[in-house]
Amino acid sequence: MNSKELFEESKKYLPGGVDSPVRSFEPYPFFVEKAEGSHLWDVEGNDYIDHCLGYGPLILGHGNSLVRENVFKQIENGTTYGAPTENEIKLAKMVIDRVPAAEMVRFVNSGTEATMSAIRLARGFTGKNKIVKFEGSYHGAHDYVLVKSGSGAATLPDSLGIPEDTTKNTLSCPFNDEEAITKLIADEKDEIAAIIVEPVMGNIGCVEPNEGYLKFLREITEENNIILIFDEVITGFRLSRGGAQTYYSVTPDLVTMGKIIGGGFPMGAFAGKKEIMSMIAPQGNVYQAGTFNGNPVSVSAGISTLNQLDQEFYRDLNKKGNYLRDEISKIVEKLDLNIQPVGLASMFQIYFNPEKVTNYEIAKKSDTDRFSTYFHELMKNGVFIPPSQFECNFLSSSHNDEDLEKLIIAIEDSLKIAWK
Ligand SMILES: *Cc1c(COP(=O)(O)O)cnc(C)c1O
Repeated sequence: MNSKELFEESKKYLPGGVDSPVRSFEPYPFFVEKAEGSHLWDVEGNDYIDHCLGYGPLILGHGNSLVRENVFKQIENGTTYGAPTENEIKLAKMVIDRVPAAEMVRFVNSGTEATMSAIRLARGFTGKNKIVKFEGSYHGAHDYVLVKSGSGAATLPDSLGIPEDTTKNTLSCPFNDEEAITKLIADEKDEIAAIIVEPVMGNIGCVEPNEGYLKFLREITEENNIILIFDEVITGFRLSRGGAQTYYSVTPDLVTMGKIIGGGFPMGAFAGKKEIMSMIAPQGNVYQAGTFNGNPVSVSAGISTLNQLDQEFYRDLNKKGNYLRDEISKIVEKLDLNIQPVGLASMFQIYFNPEKVTNYEIAKKSDTDRFSTYFHELMKNGVFIPPSQFECNFLSSSHNDEDLEKLIIAIEDSLKIAWK
């Protein structure tokens, strides 16, 4: 069957024909045959340079040989035990060694579980109930954070099925606006347990914090006994060895991780100060549990991934990112388009928006119709990016110079057609 037929078939058995809404696009998504390195092939045999990269986990590209080797070895010894392993200590130490906020870690199965548990922990630790998130930020698909949420869904209404009672303690605030958060904290005097923030907003495209903004959040949370949670599910091990907190030199109280930490397998983690993390069961009374927590296969993939991410790795990868963003800027200038190339390190995107995007309100004004044309033209040119304006594109260490040159030509051709 080809992708079109598979999609028709799939729709009969899977809602919308996909297992996660961002994977669906018009007229139908391609179905994947296989992937290797920087490339992905659909069932028709079309070859794409992959800049979606599983929405972030694959910083080494597909099928990294060291990760494969370690995973195969683990599988021969079993795939899940319901009992602890030495490798969990090894990976925990690797996280603690790299991530400034991490003194203790709990491994879970997804980013969603990580933020859900970190929020519970912040509430348990402070004895307060309210949390603050930023408009357009995405912290996974659980009830507490599906309020004014991003993730390809920047134009969708909030989900049905979430009782008002569940979200009445979730406050939201515009990103990059010091006055707004100051006022919110003053109004909610002593009721806010935590502020959860994506240090770089990667689920409405790619929005960097204004100079000093994260430091400001650190100070105002400290002054008001509020737990600061960095949701580093995208930025962790992506922006630098220690994630955004190292990149921007701001250390939160708790950090949530996912994507890269599982080396292409399902995993999440949350970590933070010993004083706070000690409250997690069975050491303390904040409950958190999971059949597959610290799964040996995911842990082995995580270890062999993090092992490869040294300073030189980031220097090389980010150099590619800088080169790519420079080239995109030149194209945009040459074509005289009033749009915004954005990104940092190995993250990139182009906002089809004349205004500089600093928050969700501005991001939403982007021209999504033209973006859709751009996306489809890129596909015709053998490049796969997430289908939404409100996602981020990634580079991996598998992308070589030839891939980059192809991408740059594809971007120029696709922009020309989108803005014809
Ligand atoms: C992807 C993502 C999540 C959710 O992680 P899942 O593994 O998909 O549950 C949470 N926070 C951020 C910032 C993300 O990008």
